[in-house]
Amino acid sequence: MTGPALTVEGLSVHYGGVRAAHGIGFTVAPGESVGIIGANGAGKSSTLKAIMGLAPRTVQVLRFGERDLTRTPAHQVVRSGIGYVPEGRHIFPGLSVEKNLLLGAYTRSWKSAARESLDEVNTLFPVLGEMRNRLAGALSGGQQQMLAIGRALMSKPRLMVLDEPSMGLSPKLVGEILLALKKLNEEGLSILLVEQNAKLTFEVTSRCLVMETGEVAMTGTSDQLRGDPKVRRIYLGL
Ligand code: ATP
Repeated sequence: MTGPALTVEGLSVHYGGVRAAHGIGFTVAPGESVGIIGANGAGKSSTLKAIMGLAPRTVQVLRFGERDLTRTPAHQVVRSGIGYVPEGRHIFPGLSVEKNLLLGAYTRSWKSAARESLDEVNTLFPVLGEMRNRLAGALSGGQQQMLAIGRALMSKPRLMVLDEPSMGLSPKLVGEILLALKKLNEEGLSILLVEQNAKLTFEVTSRCLVMETGEVAMTGTSDQLRGDPKVRRIYLGL
């Protein structure tokens, strides 16, 4: 196990009068893969954005290893070793695939380090290497999701935070992305995965939180939750 742990305590998000998340607390241990599942509007994305410094928040403890992130702006959060793959991908459609990837390496001081990461990303997702000179906007939805994950990997994160990577993708592409995430986790990268797709999340994570109306309603190992009658009924449709 390598890398620091993420510790979150007493995290709340308010957009004006709208309370999107309240009193959220959890940890992601080094090398661990943790999921947050929940219905539309449960506050999952707001929780991730608040961790990254991209949503209005109050928080008692927000730490990555020894580093206190309670006052850290978003770009410095990335520098501390947390890679973020936002919902909806947010790639640059008018730039080539390779330029999109290299933009993810803005935290790296050496060109050679960026080149090495580029090779690693192209090994993980060979299609990105094959299409390196294409405009990113010309890629399929699944390829764009791979690009968004690849771009976040370019900063050499020790924790990857992903917001609904399966959204809008065919089962085949979801399977490919799931395999890539498993591989990255096996190589020691910690993962925090937000998903509406509970089945997928249980396959990639060892532990999950279930969010309902802005709060943590349940926690457990992914195996426990997969067998829980309420989770089976509401989130797995069984
Ligand atoms: P989804 O799966 O649809 O992304 P979610 O669980 O990620 O849902 P959030 O997107 O965090 O949920 O939304 C939680 C609540 O906060 C919702 O009621 C939503 O309408 C509200 N909300 C989210 N973003 C904003 C915003 N920028 N301004 C105002 N309200 C917001």
